Amino acid sequence: MDLKSLIRDIPDFPKKGIVFRDITTLLNNPQGLRQTIDSLTLKCQENNFFPDYVVGMESRGFIFAPPLAYNLKAGFVPVRKPGKLPAPVHTIKYELEYGTDKLEIHQDAVVKGSKVLIVDDVIATGGTARATSYLLDSLGCELVGFAFVVELKALEGRSRLPNVPIVSLVEYQ
Ligand code: AMP
Repeated sequence: MDLKSLIRDIPDFPKKGIVFRDITTLLNNPQGLRQTIDSLTLKCQENNFFPDYVVGMESRGFIFAPPLAYNLKAGFVPVRKPGKLPAPVHTIKYELEYGTDKLEIHQDAVVKGSKVLIVDDVIATGGTARATSYLLDSLGCELVGFAFVVELKALEGRSRLPNVPIVSLVEYQ
């Protein structure tokens, strides 16, 4: 099944000039959802990603990281927007196209020295994934790779990420 054909393009969302790659039409297709999780799992296995934890970023990273963690027999760790996590956190501030944003992780989310994989729905500029990798640095764990469902190649997000393998399922030029 062609996964790209299940992703819907929404022009000028959330602002003019952006083509939003809407994955809700992939998620509500039973075969599409299954194939997405299965293919992502296979790509991770082929790249020898055998993490202790899969980290997903709020909000859409939460859709894909837990089933991937389940298949890879890893734990799931959420990275959240400020003020959502109840226990002590590490916080990172990072640049957006306009302004800045923050992400947080629990200070005790992972065992020091463990292997971690970062997962999100889309890599655009790579800023969110890079900020997440910095949070993981502060926890003293080993980043084994990144996995994305969609990669927006023209934005060259890969070039902003640390030098570990990166997998994606659907590419847009
Ligand atoms: P990034 O620029 O890589 O930090 O992307 C930030 C977040 O915005 C990612 O987690 C994506 O889910 C989302 N995102 C950015 N651009 C798009 C787009 N064109 N279509 C869908 N989601 C996007």
